[in-house]
Amino acid sequence: MVRRKARSGNRGRFDSKDALSAGGADVRALRYQRASQDKKEQGKSVHDQGVLNLAEITKRSWTDAGSFTDNHRSASRRATKEREQFELLIEQIRAGKGDVLVVWEISRKERDLAVFVKIRDMCHEVGLNFWLVGGVLYDLRDKNDRMMLGFQAVQAEWMADSIRDNVLRGIVGAAEAGRPHGKVTYGYRRIYDQRTRALLRQEPDTEIRTAVATDGTVTQYSRAQVVRDNFRKVSEGMPLIAVEAELNRLGIPASEGGLWRRGILRKQVMNPAYIGKRVLRGEIVGDGIWPALVEEETYWSVVRMLGDPSRTTTRPARAVHLLSYLVRCGVCDGPLSSQKVNRHGWTGQVYSCLHKRCAAVKAEYLDEYVQRTVVAWLSRPDVYDILTAASATDEEVAHARAEAQRLRGELEDWRKLGEEGEVTAIAYARAEKGLLAQIAEHEQRAADAGIPAVLRGRIGDEAVQAWQELGDDIAVKREIIRLVADIKLLRAGFKGERRTFGRHRLDWRWKFGPQDQQAA
Ligand SMILES: [Zn+2]
Repeated sequence: MVRRKARSGNRGRFDSKDALSAGGADVRALRYQRASQDKKEQGKSVHDQGVLNLAEITKRSWTDAGSFTDNHRSASRRATKEREQFELLIEQIRAGKGDVLVVWEISRKERDLAVFVKIRDMCHEVGLNFWLVGGVLYDLRDKNDRMMLGFQAVQAEWMADSIRDNVLRGIVGAAEAGRPHGKVTYGYRRIYDQRTRALLRQEPDTEIRTAVATDGTVTQYSRAQVVRDNFRKVSEGMPLIAVEAELNRLGIPASEGGLWRRGILRKQVMNPAYIGKRVLRGEIVGDGIWPALVEEETYWSVVRMLGDPSRTTTRPARAVHLLSYLVRCGVCDGPLSSQKVNRHGWTGQVYSCLHKRCAAVKAEYLDEYVQRTVVAWLSRPDVYDILTAASATDEEVAHARAEAQRLRGELEDWRKLGEEGEVTAIAYARAEKGLLAQIAEHEQRAADAGIPAVLRGRIGDEAVQAWQELGDDIAVKREIIRLVADIKLLRAGFKGERRTFGRHRLDWRWKFGPQDQQAA
């Protein structure tokens, strides 16, 4: 395909830049567009380059002798198509099909300095003496023009090297290596490089904001603090509805804008991103590069409390009674609801089986009995020992967490192998399934061993006083009762057998510790 004749015939068609500029349609222009290999690099798209190059050619009334475009974006895929377009261009130059090479900028034509020199020398050799770069005409025979072009090529190579270094350091590439992705998690903010727009880090959003309540009350807050407060409140036993109400009362906008809802709150305080973990398809897969906003201990106790099925499935919209939806019917296992009754001249509050009315009891009897029993049990030294022993086995908790973390790391290794094609998708799926099950098991163990925050300072010698101090704080009392006891109301005996309310009316099981405690 080498046409030496044409090549030699090409030599000296135009003597000078002026001659070329005045050559009109006799001048055959070859144009070359190349996609930037890095999105962060400032530069025009191949489409824009093509338009600009063609505009330059049209402006000078030259003939468009051929357009060559490399669309490749990824540096790792220097595939055949790119080579083809580039080789075609070289072939056309060698064949003497052009008088001028039109490119928008040197770095797009060829980054590699050696290749630049090669093309330049080849162009010079075959008599393609003119390059139009970004609208500026260069004559390869002119030492000043050669220097200017050379300088641009050196600069282009330096840019390419810088980008490559950044990729190796993981600043530009390695998007999966612990970097945050998707929407910014509420309570964090992302810091970007002002010039390259590359993500530098994700940090707690401590910016002080102002909220104005409907009553005019002004509150200063930061999103990071809102998250920490939400975790603290929930871990101390405040119901989600109360946390939600307080935030809305203060006029602090929800993470998604607008009002806070229990669903939003629940999702927030169960999000592992707040202990610095990265989540893939709902599972923790490793450490993120951002700092934690809350203690792991707090996080896991919240997960434990909210993950308790008795809490989510039986919780009424608004708990105003101590035991409704908490104590269950001993006959049909349905929930007890509280209602006001007026019967035989007696008016008062009653708990009764919601679905079938199997059993009922005066609310004051049950409330008093349950509280007395729970506080007596929490005051016991052996119960105190069990709870504090659980705290002393922090080592075990730490071990379970560390093991879960190690397994997550293993999973991450598998994922990388999968991405690199080292293992098949089936092998990966199999490994993932097994590892996820093990991770869940260890995380459950860690969660089980953590002392619920709601019990801290409310056991042993402090139990009685702490309970009194709770007063009307029904939500926390309910949380404590739910945590320690499983209570069912049994049917009252037939007429004549009826006795005053007592332990015979209850099926009572402690969730941990000795089972012998029953109040008289
Ligand atoms: Zn029932």
